[in-house]
Amino acid sequence: PTWKVCMNEIEQPIHSTEENSRIVVCVRKRPISKKERSKNDPDVISTVDNTLQVFEPKLKVDLTKYTEVHEFSFDKIFNEESNNMMVYKNCAQPLVFAFFKGCKVTCFAYGQTGAGKTYTMMGTNEEPGLYTLALQDIFRLKAKPEYSHLGVYISFFEIYGAKLFDLLNGRRRIECREDAKQRVRIIGLEQRLCNTAQDVFQILEEGAQARSTGSTGANADSSRSHAILQIQLKHMNDKSTSHEEDPAYTFGKLSFIDLAGSERAADTTHSDRQTRMEGAEINKSLLALKECIRALDQNHHHTPFRGSKLTLVLKDSFLSIDSRTVMIANISPSASNCEHTLNTLRYADRVKELRKDSSGSRRQSCAFSNSASSVDSKEYDENRKE
Ligand code: ADP
Ligand code: MG
Repeated sequence: PTWKVCMNEIEQPIHSTEENSRIVVCVRKRPISKKERSKNDPDVISTVDNTLQVFEPKLKVDLTKYTEVHEFSFDKIFNEESNNMMVYKNCAQPLVFAFFKGCKVTCFAYGQTGAGKTYTMMGTNEEPGLYTLALQDIFRLKAKPEYSHLGVYISFFEIYGAKLFDLLNGRRRIECREDAKQRVRIIGLEQRLCNTAQDVFQILEEGAQARSTGSTGANADSSRSHAILQIQLKHMNDKSTSHEEDPAYTFGKLSFIDLAGSERAADTTHSDRQTRMEGAEINKSLLALKECIRALDQNHHHTPFRGSKLTLVLKDSFLSIDSRTVMIANISPSASNCEHTLNTLRYADRVKELRKDSSGSRRQSCAFSNSASSVDSKEYDENRKE
């Protein structure tokens, strides 16, 4: 589809092949870094259209010979020449349009530490990321008269070792529970009404600051936590205030998630107990996430959202009929990261795999045979509420 974007007006695409696809899986390869170049760490990833090849080095000492070539294909592949705007236009902008139709949409950045998740999501001053690009569009769309009854609410929090911390409140500890109607509530989460993208940028800065410094002292290494930016469109009442706490007033919901480094999920054998526990938690959440996304595609009656805090806070998005999910798998191009890259690509491959045969017969989800998860499978016996 061709997208037309100008400063004051956004036209929606006339036709989009992804229109009916609830899950889109993309891969983004970052450029070789200066450090990698100086170490003669070669680029082992080649991309052609929507296929990607990984040349697995034979020996770490002889990087010119390859034993195996692994080939993958995804919905979209971005290479080192792609910028954040291209990723935005192709991956996130369709979500923004769906959000304004009242959908619950989610965009994840998955991958090992250093692969480019934060660069994609948050971006830099010179190269604004998906947060910024989406917010600019959101406030342009919001200015249209047909959306004047809606307010844009922002919350920004992180999940670290199964605990939630509000990044807009000095990284204060908050709790997440299901109420009597089995709706998930995050008690005490700050939701700020914003009128301009600039308002939000300020909030993001505040959140990023809290993420790295915090008030609790013992702060999470950001590679070990999931950062979640939630943007909600809510119906405003006559007094121009929304019933912030009441989910019934939510029209659309957009969640951007900068996941913990996927390599941390392997820390379960680490010598340090704390690190091991964090690793197990990350492992659990990434497995649960994969299964929840797969369940979305399958219209499963058993979405395992209770498998982790991460998936629990996204329950309404997973159970919504109008959900859309984009997963961006960020990868490093270098030979030295090849193993992690293959793990990331296999994970992404699993997420999109079932789409081809999603015609009816349900398959049993298998993630929870993994020993890292001790969750009772009976807990998932829950019908769709929406
Ligand atoms: P992660 O959040 O996955 O740990 P970062 O986003 O922090 O990784 O990226 C690691 C480094 O690589 C940063 O210095 C970042 O600026 C750089 N980088 C990542 N992706 C790109 C890209 N597509 N183009 C240029 N530099 C990138
Ligand atoms: Mg990061």
